[in-house]
Amino acid sequence: MPRFPEVPAYAASDAQTRGRCYAEPAPKFRGEYQRDRDRIIHSAAFRRLEYKTQVFINHEGDLYRTRLTHSLEVAQIARSIARALGLNEDLTEAVSLAHDLGHTPFGHAGQDALNDCMKPFGGFEHNRQSLRVVDQLEKKYADFNGLNLTFETREGILKHCSKDWAVKLGEVGRRFLEGSQPTLEAQLCNLADEIAYNNHDIDDGLRSGLIGLNDLRDIALFNQAYEEVRHQYGDLDSGRLRHEIIRRMINRLVTDVIETSTHLIHDHQPQSVDDVRSMPRSLIAFSEPVRLLNRELKRFLNQKLYHHYHVERMTTKAKRIVTELFNAFWSNPKLLPSKIQHLIHHDSDPNDQARTVTDYIASMTDRFAHEEHQKLFDFEIPG
Ligand code: MG
Repeated sequence: MPRFPEVPAYAASDAQTRGRCYAEPAPKFRGEYQRDRDRIIHSAAFRRLEYKTQVFINHEGDLYRTRLTHSLEVAQIARSIARALGLNEDLTEAVSLAHDLGHTPFGHAGQDALNDCMKPFGGFEHNRQSLRVVDQLEKKYADFNGLNLTFETREGILKHCSKDWAVKLGEVGRRFLEGSQPTLEAQLCNLADEIAYNNHDIDDGLRSGLIGLNDLRDIALFNQAYEEVRHQYGDLDSGRLRHEIIRRMINRLVTDVIETSTHLIHDHQPQSVDDVRSMPRSLIAFSEPVRLLNRELKRFLNQKLYHHYHVERMTTKAKRIVTELFNAFWSNPKLLPSKIQHLIHHDSDPNDQARTVTDYIASMTDRFAHEEHQKLFDFEIPG
């Protein structure tokens, strides 16, 4: 029998999962959410995260974060919070590792471009695509499409969703129509994602030279950590200084989430996961002062890093690549590799055809998208 972790009544419990779409026998030596995590790690979509952009495109340097290292950092932060709050670590890890599986090549630039291309066909959104990957697009099991994950992992992956799509998604979309909450584990993965990317974007931003230490000293969260490190160590080389600041910032945010959430859980006294779902608010949260500090940091990154001219140039190119790929494949599906062409039935709904083209493009790594684009658009003069 698998040993299920002991968790309080408000935490998700393996024994009380709402189950999988296709009934399967319980794993012999693992919990249900451990099995979810293992299936995610063994998926092709997970391996592709290694070559997908976070902010800096893949070939700009080997030390920058990719979607894969980002997902691992989210899992690390989320598990620390889960353990401190007594929540289900296995579910937390599964959701964290899967949350970006639907990301396009070239980060948000790729997503925005695909969303524009898909406007007439229902749009594109990476959370929804992550769910689509684990529900349908991975094709490796004999009995079903997708990974057949538990309801709770799928629910955690679908962080946001428009009402139109929520209707189409059935049970897993219901909370967006009812305004109810997901599990505490899903709530905390959301915040862990934010803590991870804000901090690693500062790290990568500083390392790349696109933002400077002095700019960041205007940001209170950063400056408080900076002052602390300088007071304790005096002069440090830039690598150690950067790391000592960032580890303090992460620690401060994580500590704040744990303390604030402990109070919220205590005040609201949820007696079960159903109680958690019916709460009027998320019980995993920053305190108000830290939420404001975090918001200031996000604004800074938005203005100074994500719209730095160097990043803008990359964004523009990436959008062009994704848009041109979509237009080429959509106007002439014969350009698609045969295994993708076989998925397009010429009498089928144009929405389904466009979705197949989008699934193909969304699955690409940065490098593969770039190569496909070159093959389609670069003339090679035979020598
Ligand atoms: Mg993320």
